[in-house]
Amino acid sequence: MFNIENITRKNIFRLIPYSSAREEFKGEANIWLDANENPYETEINRYPDPYQSELKKEISKLKMLELNQIFIGNGSDEAIDLLFRAFCEPGIDKSYIFPPTYGMYEVSANINNVETVKINLKNDFDLPSCSDIFKKIDSKGLLFICSPNNPTGNIYSLETIAAIASSFKGLVVVDEAYIDFSNSESAISLLDKEPNIVVLQTMSKAYGVAGLRLGMAFANKQIIEILNKIKPPYNVNSLSQAEGLKTLKNRSKVLEQISQLNSEKAILFDELTKMSSVMRVYPSEANFLLVEFKDSDKEFTTLQTKGIIIRNRTSQIKNCLRITVGSPEQNNILINAIKEI
Ligand code: PMP
Repeated sequence: MFNIENITRKNIFRLIPYSSAREEFKGEANIWLDANENPYETEINRYPDPYQSELKKEISKLKMLELNQIFIGNGSDEAIDLLFRAFCEPGIDKSYIFPPTYGMYEVSANINNVETVKINLKNDFDLPSCSDIFKKIDSKGLLFICSPNNPTGNIYSLETIAAIASSFKGLVVVDEAYIDFSNSESAISLLDKEPNIVVLQTMSKAYGVAGLRLGMAFANKQIIEILNKIKPPYNVNSLSQAEGLKTLKNRSKVLEQISQLNSEKAILFDELTKMSSVMRVYPSEANFLLVEFKDSDKEFTTLQTKGIIIRNRTSQIKNCLRITVGSPEQNNILINAIKEI
């Protein structure tokens, strides 16, 4: 049985949160002298809405979730850090990850003095079987499933995620930073049945507003309540809230770009597969391709000298480089540069 008290650090469960000025009075008023702001009106002289209500209303329609199931952070990286602070007791709880995967889980665990247990993905980058996973699990804490996974690009089935969640005593964090590029269903659909799942999504990738720093966590309302309790009072600034709202209201442009980027990804996949310097291109449900080269160091450094920067993932996967899908022009330049090498 899910019990929020069992998975939350005791100091956090008991915490009386800070109550900001903008939280204490929410009605209509003409004169605001409660928050020590500068009274001369500009677009940004006032503190932002601490709970980003307008943005959440739009997200709630889009994701078909209640407002109290949504947390918005200063990027999903903030949500990752807050999850550690709320749900991992240093020295006792652990973080479980499936390498090769997104590096911040381990860094955030280290910042919070939480041990990371690495359970390697199989050679085809699929998750190990449930029994192999649970052989390595001996505590509660956080278990991260990045789906589609960065840097491998593959996605995991909801059945597998649900099976892991139903046996894990802590929280299963499903990081869906790249889900908008995939046709697969989000793990949001599991939230009703598996109350210990937290789904992370972001506006940094498909939505094209990485600079705004808008990340989202979706979960049951008790988990969201805890995240709200410990977040900095004004964690999402006014300009980001306003621009984020505009972006969500103009979703047709986002959808057009997703479809364009997916077509470009297919072209890039074919072009790279044909090249003699390429050993293998991994199929991807995200906006990047993981490519194994014969000589990845040579490719990486030569591209760099030509002013083309891709991500070197050889420390995680031998001879592999990760290439973000760019505009048609950028992709052509990249392809020609690799051909020249
Ligand atoms: N999760 C994954 C898998 C990512 O690749 C990234 C960004 N590289 C993030 C989370 C962080 O996203 P945000 O910009 O929302 O902090």
